[in-house]
Amino acid sequence: MKVEERFLRYVALDTTSDESSESCPSSERQWALAKLLKQEMEELGLSQVRLDAHCYLYGFIPATDPAAPAIGLIAHMDTVDAVPGSPIHPRLLRYEGGDIELNAEKGIVMKAKDFSCLSRCVGKDLIVTDGTTLLGADDKAGVAEIMTLCEYVMAHPDMRHGKICVGFTPDEEIGRGADLFDVTGFGADFAYTVDGGSADEIEYENFNAASARVLVHGFSIHPGSAKNKMRNALRLGMEFHGMLPPNEIPECTEGYEGFYHLNSFRGEEQEAELRYIIRDHDRAKFAQKKERMRSIAAYLNEKYGENTFELILKDSYYNMKEKVQEKPYVITRALDALRACGMNPACVPIRGGTDGARLSFMGLVCPNLGTGGYNGHGIFEFACLQEMQSMVEVLKKIVAAD
Ligand SMILES: [Zn+2]
Repeated sequence: MKVEERFLRYVALDTTSDESSESCPSSERQWALAKLLKQEMEELGLSQVRLDAHCYLYGFIPATDPAAPAIGLIAHMDTVDAVPGSPIHPRLLRYEGGDIELNAEKGIVMKAKDFSCLSRCVGKDLIVTDGTTLLGADDKAGVAEIMTLCEYVMAHPDMRHGKICVGFTPDEEIGRGADLFDVTGFGADFAYTVDGGSADEIEYENFNAASARVLVHGFSIHPGSAKNKMRNALRLGMEFHGMLPPNEIPECTEGYEGFYHLNSFRGEEQEAELRYIIRDHDRAKFAQKKERMRSIAAYLNEKYGENTFELILKDSYYNMKEKVQEKPYVITRALDALRACGMNPACVPIRGGTDGARLSFMGLVCPNLGTGGYNGHGIFEFACLQEMQSMVEVLKKIVAAD
C-alpha cells in the first residue's frame, strides 16, 4: 500500500482523545485504529504483535544483522479534541501557490499570507480538510509512514538491519502517551517519535516544564469597615503576578526564551487561586524561575502575614537534550539519513514537550522526526504527500545497518 492510502484509511477513523477522562485509553474510539493496525501488523508478518489493555500497540521486525542496534519508531494514534475529529472529508490537490479554498459553501479559505509553510509546498500534492474538522496528520501521517516502512522491510528480506521496534500509543495529545509505555518490553537501544512537522526538521530540545498553583488566603470583611483589616485575596493575587517579570510571557518570547504563563486566575476576596505553567529550555534558568516564585511568595508572606500565600510547584517534564547528548549518534544517524535523501536538515528547539522527552527520562532516548504534516490541531491542518513519501525513505535509511 502507498503511504497516502494508509494515511487516508487511518484518518477516516475518529480517535479523538478526551482530557476529561481519567481512564487509559481516555476514549473508547481509539481502539478501532489500534485494532486495525494490529491486524495490519499481523498481516505484514511482524513478530510479537501485542495490543495491551491500555491500547498501547507494539510489533517487531527481527534483526537481519544482529550487530546493528535495535531501533524504535513511535507514533501516536489519538488526535486532539480542540476541533472536531470527524467526519473528515480529506481532499487531495496539486498546490500551485496562493490561497486554498477549503469549503466554498462555508467560505473557509486557507490564506497563503497566514500560513508561511504553504510557500514551501508549491508544486506539491497536499491533502487538506473541508474546513470543518482537523485532518489527523498529527499523528496519523507518522503512523502511516512507519507502517509503510514495515511493509517495505518485510518485502525485502535481504535488507540488513537491526531489530525494528514499533510502538503506537494512545493519549499523546492529553500528555499521557508515555505514561504506560513499556520501555523494557520495547527493547530498543534508542528510538524516534515520528510526530513533527517539516520532513527536514529534527527536534531534540524541548522545554523544561513545571506547573505552579498560588493559593491566596485573604480576609473578607464589609468594605465599609475594612480599613486595616481586609486582605483582599484578588488584589493580593494581582500583586503576586505583578512582581513577575512582565516580558517573560508567551506573548513576548520565542526560540530559546522561557516564560511564566498565567493560565487561570479565579477567586473572591476571601480566597483566590492563580495557576501558572513555567517553561525554559535551560535547566538553570528553569530553576531560577521556580526560585523567583518562591521568593515572591516568601516576601509577600512577610508583608501580609504567614501562610497568606501558598505555593505548590510541580515539575512536569525536562529537556531531553541532556539525555540525547549522552548518545549523540542518535542525532547523527537521523541527520545522515535526511541528507542521504537529499534534504538539508535543521535541528529546531520545540517550544513544548513531546512523549519522546518523557521516554528519554524513562531510559529510551527518543528525538522527534518530521512527518510532512502541517498546521496541526486545527481546521487548516494539511499533509504534503511528497514529504510523507520522503519520510518513508528517511526511515529506511535510519533502520538500515551501516
Ligand atoms: Zn502529535
